[in-house]
Amino acid sequence: MTILNALTVDVEDYYNQLAIDFCDRIEPPRPESARDTERMLDLFAEFKVRATCFILGEMAEYFPATVARIAGEGHQLGVHAYYHHQIWRHTPEEFRQVTDRAIKRIEDVAGRKVEAHRAVAFSLTQQTLWALPILADLGIRYDSSIFPFKGRRYGIPNAPRGPHKIALPDGRWLWEFPLSTVDAWGKRWPACGGGYLRHFPLAYARWGLRRLNAEGIPANIYLHPYEIESNPRIEIIPGLDSFSQRMKFRFFNYHQVRRRATTMPKLRALLGSNRFGPIDQVLDEWSRSAAAQSAPTINPAHLAATASA
Ligand SMILES: [Zn+2]
Repeated sequence: MTILNALTVDVEDYYNQLAIDFCDRIEPPRPESARDTERMLDLFAEFKVRATCFILGEMAEYFPATVARIAGEGHQLGVHAYYHHQIWRHTPEEFRQVTDRAIKRIEDVAGRKVEAHRAVAFSLTQQTLWALPILADLGIRYDSSIFPFKGRRYGIPNAPRGPHKIALPDGRWLWEFPLSTVDAWGKRWPACGGGYLRHFPLAYARWGLRRLNAEGIPANIYLHPYEIESNPRIEIIPGLDSFSQRMKFRFFNYHQVRRRATTMPKLRALLGSNRFGPIDQVLDEWSRSAAAQSAPTINPAHLAATASA
């Protein structure tokens, strides 16, 4: 039987994320974000596949019916944040409070426990490893926030590429399911999710998935509802004061909205030709494989040390 790969969705709104990142302004998520989430749920139902959904607390606040549907259809529940704030925007105590608030809001609406976490913009980096014991305190057993890659804005280059346990100094541990990368031609290539799925041809995602699975590593496909957005595109947001801010915004936005129409067909092709499931199910199955037996257990001090080496 072929490897079961992870299907993961960050349930959030595009516009209100822009308002936070460019203007430090919290705006309500738009109804389009719930509608596109539901379109994704329709697709998953059609393919009889379950996913892990990393939900913002505010999405549960504004769109409880959509979040209840996610839970009702058996998807694994994860927390993304309350608002779309990166971990580094918070002190450890603030991070604990806002993440706890988000988890409680999602659980209230869903009636089920939240056991997974994905940091906003993969902001679990060498500088924010203090978040790990806080997540364990809050009942998180599965994290999927680390990009084992040297990115401009994120990544821990020397983190393991496959799923592994992170052991905390007090004896507790949690699963880390990193974002997918492939080593080839002397370089490391992010593959299989978000912009990497959207910008490049389907063959690239298929190649990445095949390479990972050949190594015994399940792929981690990640998506956002707005990547299948069917609505008029956002051209500019109010509150960008300077010319350079507007240029920066336009550059960012251009890359974010480009080739969105290609996401749905690619997703359909992948779902039709590979096995996918939520992270808990993937790890349950993968734990029994030979590759899992040789997977390292990592401690946060190791991640901090290797990343700076
Ligand atoms: Zn996000």
